[in-house]
Amino acid sequence: MLPLLRFTLDLFSSEPAACPPAPTQSGTKPRLNKGRVKGTNPHSPSPYAAPPVARPLALTPSTPGAEPQPARDKPAFVPGILLPGAIDPAHFAHPQANREVRLADAVVAYAFTRAKRKSIGFVIGPDGLVVRAPRWTPLHEVDAALQEKGGWILRKLQESRERQSRAHSARVEWRDGVEIPFLGQTITVVLDPTHGFSGRGAQLQSDEQALHVGLPKTASADQIRDAVQAWLMRQAAANFKERMEHFTPLLGVQWKKLRLSSAGTRWGSASADGSIRLNWRLIHFRQPVIDYVVAHELSHLRVMDHSQNFWNTVATVVPDYQSLRAQLKEDAVPKW
Ligand SMILES: [Zn+2]
Repeated sequence: MLPLLRFTLDLFSSEPAACPPAPTQSGTKPRLNKGRVKGTNPHSPSPYAAPPVARPLALTPSTPGAEPQPARDKPAFVPGILLPGAIDPAHFAHPQANREVRLADAVVAYAFTRAKRKSIGFVIGPDGLVVRAPRWTPLHEVDAALQEKGGWILRKLQESRERQSRAHSARVEWRDGVEIPFLGQTITVVLDPTHGFSGRGAQLQSDEQALHVGLPKTASADQIRDAVQAWLMRQAAANFKERMEHFTPLLGVQWKKLRLSSAGTRWGSASADGSIRLNWRLIHFRQPVIDYVVAHELSHLRVMDHSQNFWNTVATVVPDYQSLRAQLKEDAVPKW
């Protein structure tokens, strides 16, 4: 007999990356909404605190034949990852660099140390490349090893730089003019006290990619964050519901309730009774990524595990789910 209620939880990052991630500045793997941030600026005293608007929002399927609700204010999505950083591929310099090497087109200044060890070691951290060599290894052997590993070193340096750039851009300072990702696009928050927005608090002007928020220019960071988050959650609810109703008949499943979660560790979950939870922060991603998560959770209403059968089910509606899944893991989501 089947258990009464089976519950599947989908972690933000359920699988290890193919290659070990380079450490971040804090020395830990970046985790969404996890851990504590010390010494943050006064505009975001508690980036992970649940704002007053974060209460769960439950939606139910539309009655059959009802007009699908068009997502309001929804701009067309553009392909591309979130918050790309400006990247200069030509030069990498470790702050304690004492040697330099040319690898392909790039100049890499690295920290070189001698150590009691048997082989030459390469470590790529947030500061750059560190090379450790046995005491008596001649430098030309070090240079040869660097050339031999050049491709790997450059790739890791680039990844580390991109990760830091994303992490940096992902910290939101709530003020007039702050930029946030919405459906894979960047929108600018504009404090606009002249607008009433009939109680809705904020309105997206699609033509100018600006979110006009009905707050005075003197509004506090918390007020701005709460108003923007409330708007994002409303967009998320409408968007997810519409996509649920798109995929439901395709997958031949039925769902009972959709709840928006702000759980720090999961993008979504499904339970056998037909309840789906989706993290509202998915609304930062472009639509195909959201669609993948929606299809993933709905597919659990047919297959409750992550077996091949499950992935085959996902693939019937999202054939390119693998790359979308990877994007979900790689792209930074703004933190507040
Ligand atoms: Zn799953």
